[in-house]
Amino acid sequence: MGVVKSLRLSVILAKSPKHQPRTVFKSGAVQVLCLSIMTTSETTQPLVPSSAPASAKSPTPQPTQASAADLAAFDADHIWHPYGPIPSPVAPKLVESAEGVNLHLADGHTLIDGMSSWWAACHGHSHPKLVAAAKKQATTMSHVMFGGLTHRPAIELAEKLLKLAGPGFDAIFYSDSGSVSVEVAIKMALQYQQAKGHPERTRLATWRGGYHGDTRAPMTVCDPEGGMHSLWTGQWTPQVFADKPPARGATEEERARYLAHFDSLIDDSVAGIIVEPVVQGAGGMRFHDHELLVGLRKLCDKHGILLIADEIATGFGRAGDLFTTQAAGIVPDIMCVGKALTGGFMSFAATLTTADVARTISSGPGGGIMHGPTFMGNPLACAVACAQLDLIAEGQWREDVPRIESRLRDQLQPLAGSDAVADVRVLGAIGVVEMQRPVDMGLATAAAVDAGVWLRPFGKLVYTMPPYISTNDEVDRICEAIAAIVAAEEKRR
Ligand code: PMP
Repeated sequence: MGVVKSLRLSVILAKSPKHQPRTVFKSGAVQVLCLSIMTTSETTQPLVPSSAPASAKSPTPQPTQASAADLAAFDADHIWHPYGPIPSPVAPKLVESAEGVNLHLADGHTLIDGMSSWWAACHGHSHPKLVAAAKKQATTMSHVMFGGLTHRPAIELAEKLLKLAGPGFDAIFYSDSGSVSVEVAIKMALQYQQAKGHPERTRLATWRGGYHGDTRAPMTVCDPEGGMHSLWTGQWTPQVFADKPPARGATEEERARYLAHFDSLIDDSVAGIIVEPVVQGAGGMRFHDHELLVGLRKLCDKHGILLIADEIATGFGRAGDLFTTQAAGIVPDIMCVGKALTGGFMSFAATLTTADVARTISSGPGGGIMHGPTFMGNPLACAVACAQLDLIAEGQWREDVPRIESRLRDQLQPLAGSDAVADVRVLGAIGVVEMQRPVDMGLATAAAVDAGVWLRPFGKLVYTMPPYISTNDEVDRICEAIAAIVAAEEKRR
């Protein structure tokens, strides 16, 4: 209750600029003041979200309009959001609950989650089978350390995931986020080369336009110029960057020329190649041909280096196939999965590798993989991931993804006729409208929300990855929202 009361106080203070700065949590005296203020009539409006413990709730099930706005204002002043400033000039929208394709906001709006909450909620929110798995596991054991201990959910998940990934994969490392799984993948490649007697192989080769996460090593292989991490350019030893891959539909000759270019950059300093296969996501939402992956596999074999496939966004059907590398007919040496691994239920990721890589690393100088996070192999996440993989195995997505793909294609393609639009592309359950210039985020968000849809454009890109369970009507509504953003941008020109 103390924290809740402090929160209420800070919200009250936050309403009044003369009470700046708003650091009420730091002062014991202010905590006391808080308790006295709590007795005043000003605090009778509930300021806690409905997800708070029952003891902290008012009898009213939903916060009022005003209280939701206050909470969002507190958030804007004190809580970091992705790539955002503090204070944030725009208060975030307060979500009270999410189920199926819908996000229910505190202001009474219901929005279709056109982003699957960043590729993650592939079966929609609060899927009953995932909820049941989490509940069951939570009553048994939510976490135990993974050093020296193991548990059934971790073993069951490894069996399922290695089987699904296909022949060639033999060992698995569990981590707490996609970025960490990429950190681990990069460590694997470097440790492998050390164990092979090549400590000079310390760099990674990749193509421009990529994105692999926000922790240090993944940032070094993100696009160094146009990407989110250009701020850090020059602060570490540069990796080896090939040009952006040719767009999907390239000729054989174009692909061969590109691969020859990539080949020419690989020298004795390179330990491996890391790419997002088939879909470059946050670095530009570009698609390329599966055949390029076959070419990269050959380059790796030729140079004795490892191929790392970051399938964090593409894995589990998003681009039309279970895994894009599988569809290309290749086996990478290392593969990262995350996001939809738990169906968006919680943060969790895994790095899969071959017996050769796992055993070579284990015979090398470190005697094992040099990574071991506290929450590695979290049983709750493993249990939910097992249930998610069961849904994937049931295979409904194999009908839904092509259905969504053709719906997106039919409805987004006409937008290419707008002067404000540079390109429209669709692959699997991913639809992208690239504008001629960066969109106005405020205008775009308002246009989408008015259409009852949650979208989060970035730069020139307006895009959607609908949950696989989206009905045709819901996909249509997402497309209408994208069309509304295009119309708003046309007016702005
Ligand atoms: N790799 C790719 C391809 C991604 O799209 C992302 C997330 N946007 C990451 C890695 C990082 O994953 P996380 O945000 O879970 O750390």
